[in-house]
Amino acid sequence: MSIEQAGKLIAEARSALFITGAGISAASGIPTYRGVGGLYGDRVTDEGMRIEEALSGPVFRRSPELTWKYIHQIEQACRGAAPNAAHRVLARIEERLSRSWVLTQNVDGFHRAAGSRNVIDIHGDIHRLLCTSCTFTEVVEDYAHLDPCPRCTECEKVLRPDVVLFGEMLPRAKIERLQRELERGFDVLVSVGTSSLFPYIAEPMIEAARRGVPTIEVNPEPTVVSHAVALRLPMGAVEALEGIWRVVESKPARA
Ligand code: ZN
Repeated sequence: MSIEQAGKLIAEARSALFITGAGISAASGIPTYRGVGGLYGDRVTDEGMRIEEALSGPVFRRSPELTWKYIHQIEQACRGAAPNAAHRVLARIEERLSRSWVLTQNVDGFHRAAGSRNVIDIHGDIHRLLCTSCTFTEVVEDYAHLDPCPRCTECEKVLRPDVVLFGEMLPRAKIERLQRELERGFDVLVSVGTSSLFPYIAEPMIEAARRGVPTIEVNPEPTVVSHAVALRLPMGAVEALEGIWRVVESKPARA
């Protein structure tokens, strides 16, 4: 049975990369949105622009209060939610393997909250705020006490969440970190709860599969990487990762 195979692959691996998307946070009650904007589907905002536009770098620079309005709505949808069993399994796997990383597209911060330390949150984390002008940064549990368009306590300029807005570049340091870890290589790659629409999310899986490195995909629906992976688990993240952990736990840890 394939959960058994997946668990065995991970139990025998020294290193693993988990690539996660909205599907892993679905069981926490987080809407499975596309990027930070898909909460709204194709809806048009009150201001008559597409949500991708309202949540874009150029609009934020022009009208930060408008972008903040929708960032607040996204945060509101996530507020009070917590990491689930799938996040916790990845943290346990990190403790057990000599090297395990999570590459996530989610901005909910759940991997770190669940105990994972090796996390590349490529799209950022909504709980970290940055000043758009000085080096001030702040971590907030939620936005309950945040102004509609919060400003820096040091320099009075507008703050922004540390997330990649539409039309913005991915953070260079995170891309370089990912590149370094991919160059070191992994014994197994696991895609969890993502449709892998972004090339930088799909390519590590496709490339590993091409080189014969074991690849596993956990997603109820087929995706753009499904044809390439060695093992497909067509189910939710919690069911799959809890099953995988039961297998891993039952095997002796590698020396
Ligand atoms: Zn500042």
